[in-house]
Amino acid sequence: MNKAIKPRVVILGGGFGGMAAAQALGKSANVTVVDRHNYQTFLPLLYQVSTAGLAADHVAYPIRGALQKSAGRFRMGSPISIDHRNKTVKLDSSEVLPFDHLVVAMGSVTADFGTPGVEEHALGMKTIHEALMIRAEVMRRFEDLCRFEDDTRLSLVVVGGGPTGVEMAGALAELVRGPLMNDQSHAAKHIDISLIEAGPRILPMFDASLSDKSQRALEKLGVKVLVNSAVKEVGGDSIYMRDGSIIPAEITIWAAGVQGAPVIHDLTLPVISNRLDVDPTMQVKNYPYVWAVGDISGAKGKDGRFLPMVAPVAMQQGRFVAAQIKRLIKSQDLQTFSYKDKGSMATIGRHKAIVQVNKIKYSGYPAWVTWLFLHLFYLMGGRNRIGTIVDWCWNYFTFDRGNRHIMDSM
Ligand SMILES: Cc1cc2nc3c(=O)[nH]c(=O)nc-3n(C[C@H](O)[C@H](O)[C@H](O)COP(=O)(O)OP(=O)(O)OC[C@H]3O[C@@H](n4cnc5c(N)ncnc54)[C@H](O)[C@@H]3O)c2cc1C
Repeated sequence: MNKAIKPRVVILGGGFGGMAAAQALGKSANVTVVDRHNYQTFLPLLYQVSTAGLAADHVAYPIRGALQKSAGRFRMGSPISIDHRNKTVKLDSSEVLPFDHLVVAMGSVTADFGTPGVEEHALGMKTIHEALMIRAEVMRRFEDLCRFEDDTRLSLVVVGGGPTGVEMAGALAELVRGPLMNDQSHAAKHIDISLIEAGPRILPMFDASLSDKSQRALEKLGVKVLVNSAVKEVGGDSIYMRDGSIIPAEITIWAAGVQGAPVIHDLTLPVISNRLDVDPTMQVKNYPYVWAVGDISGAKGKDGRFLPMVAPVAMQQGRFVAAQIKRLIKSQDLQTFSYKDKGSMATIGRHKAIVQVNKIKYSGYPAWVTWLFLHLFYLMGGRNRIGTIVDWCWNYFTFDRGNRHIMDSM
């Protein structure tokens, strides 16, 4: 193809959706990826960074490295405005990028649903920085607790019984029962871990039998699971519940939900329920040269509900939008997006996980092995895979967690 007629595609966001689009476009377009970080974060393993199971750099992959094969360009920064008349996007560096197609793939942010105190007192887990803050906070509070030889207790509370909250609570319990118990058993025995879920059961997207199994597995690890429990307010050391009860919480980890990245409000594009309003072709409504993929996109499934904010949706949409742009290059008709749900999984700790693929569901050791292999498969980069295998083997055979450093201050 003649290089001069390649369309210019600017992709805002180098996460699952944006990078899938960039890689699928390959050399058929002049691609520029814009992201505020110069790496892609493998969010599904972030909870292991927070709980000292994995080194932070194993879940990050350089965007420039991922773009090398396709000769794509990268700009570190954030978009501040779109000029629709001239088809340009302005970055916070003041650089102006012209485009023929704009793909918006800036993911989501923690949603507090207006709950007072979440922003001030709870820790979110959307970035590596936040994961390291959780790790540092847990380890610092543990060091504080080690000074006491009385009955002083430390309460760690995870809010949100979806896969992220469940995996986080399970990994915290393993950290406390293993490495921290070896470090100072008196202190470790005085750490309480709770998981709070507003709905009637944890993991509501799975079959009820798998939710039950997961709850039992968490309880066996020592996690107190509270269902039908809605948070009214988060305080500095307590959580105030709607039923009037108060739960001690020196550390609150908020895993109760996400919403489209707020930057969409600056981009003068149509928004629906904090996501970009899109047609079934994945074009943003009334802006046929703008596409939205992943968590930020308001695409709906056959049931008329928004598609879940999960990595497979983002990757399928990214590849689909790349194919749509290629169709336009060849003057072919556009198609409509349909999500192929390949199933869900969550892990609750050593040897324990659940997998559900349509009507097939299984748990325990086979599910855990499936979980391990699929996460390794999707993790980007040989170095990250080897590092992760080394960390996992070390944790598995020694019951230790080598990454429990406090590294957020001098
Ligand atoms: C802790 C956690 C665990 C998860 N576990 C799973 C799981 O096990 N399985 C699963 O399927 N899904 C999981 N998810 C959800 C999954 O990660 C998301 O659905 C997926 O990342 C969405 O892809 P995306 O491309 O839309 O956004 P992302 O992958 O989040 O990428 C968005 C990119 O945009 C960039 N960006 C955002 N705002 C700006 C800005 N203003 N300027 C510049 N750049 C910006 C970000 O830096 C990021 O690189 C998890 C999410 C979290 C937070």
